[in-house]
Amino acid sequence: MADRILVLGGAGYIGSHVQKQLLEDGFEVIVFDNLSSGDKVNILSGAKLIVGDILDIEAIDKAMSLGIKGVVHLAAKKAVGESMIKPEIYASNNLTGSINILNSMAKHNVRYIVFSSSAAVYGMPKYIPIDEEHPICPINYYGYTKRAIEENMEWYKKLGKLNYVALRYFNAVGYAKDKSITGRERNPQNLMPIIMEAATGKRDGFSIFGNDYETKDGTCVRDYIHVSDLARAHSLSLKKLFETDCSYTLNLGTGIGTSVKEIVDATEKVIGKKLNYDYAPRRSGDPAILTAKASKATEVLGWKPIYTNVEDIISTVWNLEI
Ligand code: UDP
Repeated sequence: MADRILVLGGAGYIGSHVQKQLLEDGFEVIVFDNLSSGDKVNILSGAKLIVGDILDIEAIDKAMSLGIKGVVHLAAKKAVGESMIKPEIYASNNLTGSINILNSMAKHNVRYIVFSSSAAVYGMPKYIPIDEEHPICPINYYGYTKRAIEENMEWYKKLGKLNYVALRYFNAVGYAKDKSITGRERNPQNLMPIIMEAATGKRDGFSIFGNDYETKDGTCVRDYIHVSDLARAHSLSLKKLFETDCSYTLNLGTGIGTSVKEIVDATEKVIGKKLNYDYAPRRSGDPAILTAKASKATEVLGWKPIYTNVEDIISTVWNLEI
């Protein structure tokens, strides 16, 4: 019988791609999502959807008692700026919600969790590329919530309750190539969906935040990782947990640095037209360069990103529009 996986936040952008990968890999998938930012259209046939909130302990307990072998937890608020203005929302959803999940797992003897963490746990880079040994010093409340849950998973592990894989994502972009996931993020805060809204006329234009960084062209450099590559790492992580009963913390990135300007230029090339943008002041808290050393994920999981060309990645987003 196929192992049954509970995907918390499985209707969201990354979660829905994880759902797809798990189905393709022969897992049975139950998505648990409050649909606050996720979308029902992202639920594929073959997956079951439970509409529920991770702050509702009864609802989580009910889902957790369905013979779950492993959990993938991506149910979280993720807007960095908002986390600094309304920390209480992040404390409830990301901290209390996640503790509810760990407690429910312990109660129902569900031993395995893959947790969606973030490069935001590192804060300002002391060196580049960032490996997992890099000092941890989040500079925004969102990053703090991710770190706090990593620490709690470490404690629950020490106390014999579970094993975990914490996946520290760099910049997730792209959509499934086969166009099976179509739900767009509402009110996006990240560069790629904002550019796409400009490309499709949903917004007039956009700003590049800062052109005076010490980088190749003055704009910030990030490590853009395709969401299908990210998704594959979750499936591999579950298999690794089941096989080894050990815990791991892994960066997920390509190691390739791409500047904001390069993303904009590549998008113009892919869509075949000019975009309307201007240069605005730096956004506070943005490091100039953030790239990953993700060789540990290769060693532990045998994982490697397939998408390494930024135009290929952008094409998977643009393909949804044409
Ligand atoms: N960015 C930008 N204009 C926007 C949104 C983002 O220039 O409208 C820049 C941002 O300053 C950063 C990069 O794009 O250098 C990626 O930002 P995003 O918010 O997507 O991800 P982050 O790196 O903050 O996790």
